[in-house]
Amino acid sequence: MKDKFSLGGFLKKYRNDEVCLEYLVKIKHPSGIFCKKCQKITNFTKVKDRPVYQCSCGYQISPLSGTIFEKTTTPLQYWFYAIFIMSVTRSGVSAKQLQRELGVTYKTAWRIFKMKYQRK
Ligand SMILES: [Zn+2]
Repeated sequence: MKDKFSLGGFLKKYRNDEVCLEYLVKIKHPSGIFCKKCQKITNFTKVKDRPVYQCSCGYQISPLSGTIFEKTTTPLQYWFYAIFIMSVTRSGVSAKQLQRELGVTYKTAWRIFKMKYQRK
């Protein structure tokens, strides 16, 4: 895949927040989501308009809790895009550049920029 790191490839893969959320779920739960109520891995479905997944029994999980995305009001796709440009730009990306690229406030750009140093 030649265009693995192209913007086009990125937009195709992470075309909206739902897809980004799904991606996070797959990272956090690589072999499926375990339902504490059913006591097994079940089929969770996404709850409409909320970053929450629900088992058929009604048990819900929030994939964003405990992550840097938990309290953000910035669309998940923006974060993913920021991660994308930070990973493809060899010389590094400044917060100012993120602000310009994403069209967000400097405060938001700075918060996204800072996450680089918050990885554990
Ligand atoms: Zn369940």
